Amino acid sequence: MRYQSSLIMLFCVLLTQTICQPAQAQQHSWRGFEMGKATIDDITAKLGPSPIETAGRQDLRYPSTQDSNLCDRLYFVNRKLELAQSASTDPRFPNRAAIEEAFGAPEAEVTFQTQEYLDYSEEGFRFICAAGGTTTGVLSFRPVPRRVPRGYPNTHINLRRELPPATRPLPTVLKVGAAQVCITPKTLDGIQSPDAKQELHVDEDVFARAAIFQSDEQSVVLIGLDVFGMGLWDIQQLRNSLREKGFPNVIVAMSHTHANVDTIGFYGYYPEDYANQILKNAEEAVLRAAENLDSVSHLQSGTIEMPLAGGRVVDLIRNGRDPGLVDPSVSVLQAIGADGKPVVNIVHLACHPEVIRLKDTNGLSPDFVGTLCRKVTEQLGGQTVFLNGALGGMLTPDTRFRTQEAAEEMGTRLSVFAIEAARQAVSCSKDGLFVETVSVEYPITAAAISTFLNNPPKPYPVRDGRVTADMSVIWIGDAQFVTVPGEVLPDIGFEIMQEMAGRTRVIVGLANGELGYLIPGFDFRANGYEERTGPGAAGGEITRSIGLQLARRRP
Ligand SMILES: [Zn+2]
Repeated sequence: MRYQSSLIMLFCVLLTQTICQPAQAQQHSWRGFEMGKATIDDITAKLGPSPIETAGRQDLRYPSTQDSNLCDRLYFVNRKLELAQSASTDPRFPNRAAIEEAFGAPEAEVTFQTQEYLDYSEEGFRFICAAGGTTTGVLSFRPVPRRVPRGYPNTHINLRRELPPATRPLPTVLKVGAAQVCITPKTLDGIQSPDAKQELHVDEDVFARAAIFQSDEQSVVLIGLDVFGMGLWDIQQLRNSLREKGFPNVIVAMSHTHANVDTIGFYGYYPEDYANQILKNAEEAVLRAAENLDSVSHLQSGTIEMPLAGGRVVDLIRNGRDPGLVDPSVSVLQAIGADGKPVVNIVHLACHPEVIRLKDTNGLSPDFVGTLCRKVTEQLGGQTVFLNGALGGMLTPDTRFRTQEAAEEMGTRLSVFAIEAARQAVSCSKDGLFVETVSVEYPITAAAISTFLNNPPKPYPVRDGRVTADMSVIWIGDAQFVTVPGEVLPDIGFEIMQEMAGRTRVIVGLANGELGYLIPGFDFRANGYEERTGPGAAGGEITRSIGLQLARRRP
C-alpha cells in the first residue's frame, strides 16, 4: 500500500513511548551530536553543509569516515536529530564483542549469511556486524521499549547455513519458456478518476514478464507484473483463464510500483478498462512463453548479500518503520539453454518500488524494476522476471532523489548485485518441480479494507467478514519459493525463510493477492499506517503459521 510518512510515525512512536533508562548509560549520539538535542543548524555549523546533494534540506547525509562510497544518514523531527544510520566507525563499538560487553546479549538478532543485525532498542542502539564481528553499521536513537518481546520465537533468527558444495550440472528434463508483453495503457483516458487534476504521461513502459517451467508431470507459471497491485477478483480471473488453457499453477507476482495507477481501486477509482487490458496482456505473455517452451540444459541458482553498512543498503534500501531491519539478499534462478545461455533469469529482492510516486512526477514507470530487468537481460541474456519479496513495513528506497532518473540509477545499481548472484550461481542438484497451494482465510478487521472489500469493483466473495487468498510453496530445482498474498513484514519473512531448505530461499510478496500489510502480532501498533492498510491484527500471524508449514514442505 502507499507509503506515507512511515518515518514520521516511527518518530511519533519514539516520542510517545515511555523513555527507558539504559542499563549502562551510553550517549545516544552520532559524532558527538546528541539525539533529541542536536539541531540541523548545530550539525551544519560544525561539519559544514553536507557534500552529498539531496532533494530536501532535512535529508542530511555525510560521507562515512572510513569509506567515502558510503554515508551516514540523519533524520530529524522538528529540526532535532532523532535517528542516525551510520556507516562510520563509532570508537565505542568497534565490534560485536565490545557491543556485548556494553549491553549484554541483544534483545533480538537476525543472523544472515555474511552479516548480523543486533537490536538493542531499550538501549537506543541497533547494530550491523560482519560475520567476523566487525561493526559496519550503528543506528542511534533515543531508547524505546524492546520491539521483539522476550521469549518470542522471533527473538533470534538464524539464516546462516553451510551449503553443500556445487554439483556438476544435472541434465534436466524440464522445458522452459519465457516472454514479456508491454502493459502500458493503450490510452491514458480513463486510467484515473475524472476528477484528477494531474495529467499523466509515460516515462517508461511497464511490462508483464512471464516464465513457464514444465516437467512431464507438473508446470509452474511465474508472472511478474509492473503494477501497484491488482484485486483478488482480477487475479482470480487471470488464473482461472490460464487454468482453462492448461496452466493450473500460476503465480501472479506484483512488483508494487508506485508509479503506476491504482489498479486495485482501493483509493477510490478503479480503471476497469486498464485492469482488463493488463489481464489480457499478462495472459498473452504466458501464451507467448508457452510457444517458446524448449528443453533446457540445466537450472542454476545463487544468492548474494548486499552490504548493510550503515544499517541500510546505502543509496538503495532502508527500513522506514524499523530502521536497520533489511533483508540484504538478492537471489537469481536461471534456466540455461542448450547453447549455454540463460533462457530465463528470475530475480528476487525485497524493496518498495517507490523511488517515484505518480503524484509527484505524473509519469508512469516500473520504477527501479524496469532498469533492473533490462540491465540483467543485457548482461546475461534471456528473459528476466522480477519477483518482489517481504517488503512490508517498510522496505523503501534510500535514494536521494525521487525522479525517473533516480529510479533508473537504482535499477542499474541493483542489477550489479543480481548479475553477481548469477555469476556465483551453482547448478541445481535436482531438476523437478513441486507445487502445493493452500487456500487461506483472512478475517478482514481493519476498517478501510473491510469497507472496500464489502463493495469491491468486481464481485468477490466475503464470507463472515473473511476473504480467501492462496499461498503456495514451489520448488524449481533446489530453489524454494513461498508465496504470500500481500506485503509481509521482514520479521515474518525471515521466520519463514529460516524453515526453508531450498538452496535458494525466496519469499514472493504480493503474490496472487494484495491484502496490504501482514504484520507480526507482537509488533501490531494501534492506528499505525501499515496496520490501517492491511487485513487487521490476525493477518500477519495467519500468514506466518501457514508460511511456516509451507516452508517445511519438501519435494
Ligand atoms: Zn506498500
